[in-house]
Amino acid sequence: MLKNSPIQSNPALLKPPSTGFKPIVVSGIQPSGTLHLGNYFGAIRQHVELHAAVESYFFIVNYHALTSLSDAKALRNYSVDVALDYLALGFDPTKSNLFLQSDVPQVTELSWIFYTLTPVSQLEKGVSFKDKVAAGLTANAGLFNYPILQAADILIYGGTLVPVGADQKQNVEICRDLAARFNERFSPDNPIFPIPEPYILEDVAVVPGVDGRKMSKSYSNTIGIFDEGKELKQKVMSIVTDSTPLEDPKDPDTCNVFALIRLFASDEKRDEIAAAYRAGGYGYGHAKKELLGLVTEYFADAREKRRELAKNTDFVMDVLREGGRKGRAQAETFMEKARAASGLITTY
Ligand code: ADP
Repeated sequence: MLKNSPIQSNPALLKPPSTGFKPIVVSGIQPSGTLHLGNYFGAIRQHVELHAAVESYFFIVNYHALTSLSDAKALRNYSVDVALDYLALGFDPTKSNLFLQSDVPQVTELSWIFYTLTPVSQLEKGVSFKDKVAAGLTANAGLFNYPILQAADILIYGGTLVPVGADQKQNVEICRDLAARFNERFSPDNPIFPIPEPYILEDVAVVPGVDGRKMSKSYSNTIGIFDEGKELKQKVMSIVTDSTPLEDPKDPDTCNVFALIRLFASDEKRDEIAAAYRAGGYGYGHAKKELLGLVTEYFADAREKRRELAKNTDFVMDVLREGGRKGRAQAETFMEKARAASGLITTY
């Protein structure tokens, strides 16, 4: 199922850059809506690729989702859906840890310490914050401080490698700054936190939504990983294109439909379609039909597996419970050190 797998061909990517730390992969995903193709190619595919190769922690960031979602029932449902999606897409819970962010409350404790180390001016430059507010989300303090909680998410497990989409570059940078700042201030001789590296596949970059902007749950422009039938067709057909007439040559590199096709198609198929664009006589309707077929086929097995898993949500909850137990244990080892180093006394 995996197209392009840099880790398999270059295991050195897993080596932690800072000495003294073992390689640990961490990443989170918001349960604020149905997971989409941007989440898959930007992050989940890499999570599935990495999870069995190295110690890793993947969490469903429900605290983060609260920044944009205030419907408790929806949050509960989406949280279980994300777990189902991961398991259906090949995540093996015997090889790694999948859990709910809120099962590790220490993460909010660490983020408080990080608040005190973060200049407001750094958060004010947050691209993701500005984009979300521009898209109509309320500029609540949670949304503003989102990168701090994300930094705590990564560092509390000692994460050294963070597989994310290109849109997260700046947030990982803030996380690296916080790790360095904490170490400098509180543990200069014996750094507590590693400086994590982002793992971003540049050839995926930012997956466009049906309106051509970044595909995002916050923008209602997504194609769901598990969409099928009429719904999938209708979304694919709604992808925005320019109005070049059918018979004219077209540029595949500026086309939203082709940007999605290239993620699914084999190299030969991709080149064949690109040549058809350039030759003319190939319309956007043709390209959309091609894309529809590719998406349907690509996720066929996962769709089937998901249907089976959905019949057994007890199993899914057990996976999350066990993952949470391991996540909490790992988090507490870092939290204990962070409390002690920063002078926070606890008496329990
Ligand atoms: P969303 O913007 O849909 O809420 P999240 O913030 O939950 O997505 O992101 C989960 C992961 O998916 C992150 O690693 C993010 O970089 C990645 N991701 C989200 N949207 C895209 C996209 N359009 N293209 C590439 N990666 C994406």
